[in-house]
Amino acid sequence: MRINVMGVGFDNLTLDEAVEEALRLISQHCSAYVVTPNPEIVMMCRGDGAVMDAVQRADLVLPDGVGVVYGARILGTPLKGKLPGIDFAQALMSELAKIDGRVFLLGSKPGVAEMAAKNLSDRYPGLTICGTMDGYFKDDAPVIEAVNAAKPDLLFVCLGAPKQELWMQRNAPKLHVGIMAGLGGSLDVFAGTVKRAPKFFQKLGLEWFYRLIKEPWRIGRMMQLPKFLFATIRERFRRKR
Ligand code: UDP
Repeated sequence: MRINVMGVGFDNLTLDEAVEEALRLISQHCSAYVVTPNPEIVMMCRGDGAVMDAVQRADLVLPDGVGVVYGARILGTPLKGKLPGIDFAQALMSELAKIDGRVFLLGSKPGVAEMAAKNLSDRYPGLTICGTMDGYFKDDAPVIEAVNAAKPDLLFVCLGAPKQELWMQRNAPKLHVGIMAGLGGSLDVFAGTVKRAPKFFQKLGLEWFYRLIKEPWRIGRMMQLPKFLFATIRERFRRKR
């Protein structure tokens, strides 16, 4: 059963359990999809029924970041822990590399997916990067054709939220992939064009703060975090009454 955090149901899994479930879904080859909402996406879902639907219908809903974990705790229904999409992707690629898995990288600016492909091939020998494509296309049809021809076990969909969630839901019936995952800016990190927060910040749950220092223009988007936390506190009191 999923844990309801402000209307979005999260799977309560450890990283190992999430990877195990993803491998099970891949073996079924049913174009399952994974979403990794952070508080900003939860707030988007609350304001837009189509985004909420795309998130709720995902086969795996993982809590990206510490904000959702705090929210669940405030609501009295704690989650096992945060599960950043990029950590999930790395752990899944490690497993796929052992079984000669295939990965297709879709998203980010032109050239980025190719750089990420080179780095990932070096990091995970055994993994085949079976295709790359940037995320600034107009028609879905040629993308679907290229992905289906490449037959990936895992499709990265890195188009930013909520575009990637809506894209996965809309196209799942036409795609022949094991699983796909909406992973925001992960390709930029794998390509090395964006640096992830040092481990110190990650451990303290301050990855968002590091990102804010590096990319101060994110302040508008990040204001969703305190709004989300206030909303969970209000909800907790409402439930108590
Ligand atoms: N992006 C894309 N197509 C679009 C809009 C965005 O491929 O039409 C890419 C963008 O280049 C970036 C990623 O989507 O690589 C979004 O990154 P962001 O850091 O905003 O996502 P987050 O991780 O915060 O969800």
